[in-house]
Amino acid sequence: MMILKMKKEDLSVFLETVKEWGELWGPARKGERVVFQRVDGLSQMDLKATRTIIPPKKFLYPQRFTMFDFDDKGYVERTEHVPNRILFGIHPCDIHGIQVMDELFLEEYRDPYYAERREKTLLLGHSCIPDDKCMCSARDTEFIAEGFDLFFTDLKMFYLVWVGSSRGHDLVRMRPELFNRNIGRDDILNYNEYRKWKKAQVQSGADFTGMPDIFELGYNSPIWDELAEKCLSCGQCTMVCPTCNCFNVVDEVELGTVEGTRDRFWDSCMFREYSLVAGGHNFRDKRVERLKLWYTHKLQAYISEFGEPSCVGCGRCVATCPVDINVVTVTKALREQEVGK
Ligand code: SF4
Ligand code: SF4
Repeated sequence: MMILKMKKEDLSVFLETVKEWGELWGPARKGERVVFQRVDGLSQMDLKATRTIIPPKKFLYPQRFTMFDFDDKGYVERTEHVPNRILFGIHPCDIHGIQVMDELFLEEYRDPYYAERREKTLLLGHSCIPDDKCMCSARDTEFIAEGFDLFFTDLKMFYLVWVGSSRGHDLVRMRPELFNRNIGRDDILNYNEYRKWKKAQVQSGADFTGMPDIFELGYNSPIWDELAEKCLSCGQCTMVCPTCNCFNVVDEVELGTVEGTRDRFWDSCMFREYSLVAGGHNFRDKRVERLKLWYTHKLQAYISEFGEPSCVGCGRCVATCPVDINVVTVTKALREQEVGK
């Protein structure tokens, strides 16, 4: 790991240069919201926005894509269509989210479609300004030490730039004159102040301590029924969550031929059809069963398997759920055995 310093005014020039490697994408305004969009340069990005609607998982694990074309002789993979992309402005919680996806799609089982996109995507992180929905401090995800190629921390007058991979080094070598290694005492003090400031910003009140036990104790609690009464099964919480990864696979076949495509698209365990199987049996027919599955998987089962929750504290479920069901309200309700009004 190497940490360099860059003048704020040099970022734009740097991004112009790295576009030689691939398409540049970053957080950009779309009406009231912010989304990751392909951009020409820094001027089109909004680096002050706290979160995009959909996390950057959409680049590595698209909402819908064709895995391969097939006919009666065999199949041809579609992975070669994936472009080189540079994602700029990714926040620490979202990089933690990508690490969760890496664990599932590269380590547990190597998914060739995910692996191809991961290989062709450079992650350039950027520090963020937390809002009242962020809960990264409760999850220890407000800073990030690995999982990116470069990470830019904005210290007002300049950036500290973490180089996190050999590909990050390659990018720095494209414009070495824009970086310097002279980190002085004032820079260290500035950075320390920044860390304190950031921790002080996050005040969601989320408390994840003891969750596996709380879930175990509360597994049959009527609290779940109360929450399920409110839930609309809309699945928005799963779509916006950076670590949700359920998918479905369908074959699209041309009528009267044996040619077609095998497509993959995001699915949600909150949808009733998700657990509908052949013969019409649905093993999670009731909303309460689906809601309980989502939360126990994130905050209990995942800890048993990987040692930590699969929630990275991004706050998107807080910002998105139309009836205020999210990791904060659910954990609080379970802990206090009362659903907040
Ligand atoms: S918890 Fe909220 S966002 Fe998720 S399915 Fe229910 S209503 Fe929709
Ligand atoms: S559960 Fe909510 S806060 Fe946690 S990572 Fe998913 S969307 Fe973000």
